[in-house]
Amino acid sequence: MRCENCNRVIDDDLDECPKCGASISKLKSSVSLSDKGGFLWGMLGFFLPCLISIILYFIILDTKPTNAKALLIGIILNIVSSIIIIFYSGLFIFFINTGTISLIV
Ligand SMILES: [Zn+2]
Repeated sequence: MRCENCNRVIDDDLDECPKCGASISKLKSSVSLSDKGGFLWGMLGFFLPCLISIILYFIILDTKPTNAKALLIGIILNIVSSIIIIFYSGLFIFFINTGTISLIV
């Protein structure tokens, strides 16, 4: 995580910034409250348009890495499911055109 005071990257288990001496226990508790990752961030990544969620991912990556990770999983699932849906609808159309599947049973 980053020091509130000097913005340097510091160890998560330190109580004090080694560079400027600022106390970071307050910062630590606020980060752990808002950076739990979880299902909602994954859903956000899944349902938002890819470009928007990727931009959001880079915005929160520095301050909320756990949320960013959950968001990234949602983005990946979003892309993978899109590819699967496009692939199978293409396959379906191909089979209808070649007469392998008949729509009239
Ligand atoms: Zn500092």
